[in-house]
Amino acid sequence: MAKMIESAASRAQTPFKNEPVIDFTKPENRQAQMEALEQVKRELGQTYPLIIGGKKITSGSTFASVNPSQPDQVIGYFTRATVEQAGEAVKAAAAFETWKHVPAKERAGYLFSAADLLKQRRFYVDAWMIYEVGKSWPEADADTAEAIDFLEFYAREMVRLAGEQPVVHIESEDSELVYIPLGVGAVIPPWNFPAAIMVGMTSASFVTGNTVVLKPASTSPMIAWQFMRILEDIGLPAGVVNFLTGSGSTIGDALIEHPLVRFIAFTGSRDVGLRINELAAKPYKGQIWLKRAILEMGGKDAVVVDETADLDAAADGIVASAFGFQGQKCSAGSRAIIVEPVYDQVLQKVIEKTKRLTVGDVTKPETYMGPVVDENAMKKITGYIEIGKQEGRLVAGGGHHGPGYFIEPTVIADVDPHARIAQEEIFGPVLAVIKAKDFDDAMHIANDTEYGLTGSLYSRDQQRIERAKEEYHVGNLYFNRKSTGALVGVHPFGGFNMSGTDSKAGGRDYLLLFTQAKAISAKKA
Ligand code: NDP
Repeated sequence: MAKMIESAASRAQTPFKNEPVIDFTKPENRQAQMEALEQVKRELGQTYPLIIGGKKITSGSTFASVNPSQPDQVIGYFTRATVEQAGEAVKAAAAFETWKHVPAKERAGYLFSAADLLKQRRFYVDAWMIYEVGKSWPEADADTAEAIDFLEFYAREMVRLAGEQPVVHIESEDSELVYIPLGVGAVIPPWNFPAAIMVGMTSASFVTGNTVVLKPASTSPMIAWQFMRILEDIGLPAGVVNFLTGSGSTIGDALIEHPLVRFIAFTGSRDVGLRINELAAKPYKGQIWLKRAILEMGGKDAVVVDETADLDAAADGIVASAFGFQGQKCSAGSRAIIVEPVYDQVLQKVIEKTKRLTVGDVTKPETYMGPVVDENAMKKITGYIEIGKQEGRLVAGGGHHGPGYFIEPTVIADVDPHARIAQEEIFGPVLAVIKAKDFDDAMHIANDTEYGLTGSLYSRDQQRIERAKEEYHVGNLYFNRKSTGALVGVHPFGGFNMSGTDSKAGGRDYLLLFTQAKAISAKKA
């Protein structure tokens, strides 16, 4: 272990750099991705256990994770945990009592080792994501790259936090401040960044000395399983991360209400986030702390364009923000707000660019958009398209086809800022285009939702850019670029209002959410 500590300490001193994405125009990379897809195809349809305290448990019933491009193809069968097993997983996470004593640099060392292994398995994990959630090659790879970034970033952050912290020194005492872990955490990620967000929340939890019950989203358990394999292969002690698959609505409450659970790290929808917030606020029998809820929720993000903007760049940004990964990103620019003088021009460009997007087989490298994640998503999104046809003018897309859950990129123009499709998170490839009278009106419309996650402004007017820095109330604000694609360390990520608890994943403040600070002073002799 001394070697691991030493190597983590020296690696932590090297500057963090974002992992480059794979260039799929290179034949060797295309070949490697094709081979990984073939390998994954051969491995489809197996059955996977829960992992509780290091023990693999396959008893009980299972559920299937399926390929949304081809729903009769089973990715894998996962064990449906019971409420009792949720309790057992929390108890197993009492490994906290030993894990919390493991030195911070050693814990960081596990993250570095996991990052190395994930780099080695890059094409393989990308391939699973292409199959399990219908990501295009570049989207899948960006997700894996971000997961690697979180591991690399949080390992360095932990070493920094474990170092000496600044306190004011007085003559009569020796004082220090240390960050200690919280306890057992329930980590509940979504399916849309099945690698990055799951790895980010889980690794932030255990690198800080906590233990984890990881309950992955039921539409993407395979990616979480791949991470569990990595943690096993690097020798992470049993019980530090427990793997509990099953429906959130069945076992979620049991986890959140468990008196031994000290914190909940959740990323997902507004409604589930609000429910968790409410449940976590109540003390349960035997509970001796206030539970901490770290909640990252939805968005209704806007791309604003004024009359000074580069209109081609703006149209490119609108289309990329709205339709990347089928619009299933919390940062998706699902509203384009365009000032009146350039409205028709920009709209026309957006329509043309949207019509050029390809929708279909994501196992082919040239496909831009795949399916939406499941039948429920399909029904919800196509329902919103019908509402949108009443609320505005359908100018592109609108259709869908099977047998997978494929929906055309859809643009609805002339939408009122208070229309449902301009206010509610659709989480699919549906763009509402809204006309603003002028820049003031555009800013007002942009802020006029209950969310505050990301926002973009395309403008060449420096004064307006300065105003937007003050007035545009979002956690991640971008100028003259798309609203998606936050990079770890560069764009610490998380939003305001109903977008969550204002946390910043991939930023210097993030690990503090998983710790508590202890101030220690000794009177000098
Ligand atoms: P959901 O809220 O449906 O699910 C998220 C997670 O919560 C899943 O693991 C789910 O499990 C679980 N869950 C569901 N019901 C409960 C419950 N009652 N108690 C405890 N856990 C429960 O969101 P999606 O997975 O559909 O993700 C999409 C949402 O995530 C969008 O709203 C998006 O904006 C948001 N998001 C926010 C981000 C941010 O940084 N702010 C980033 C990425 C996404 P199961 O799958 O078994 O139902």
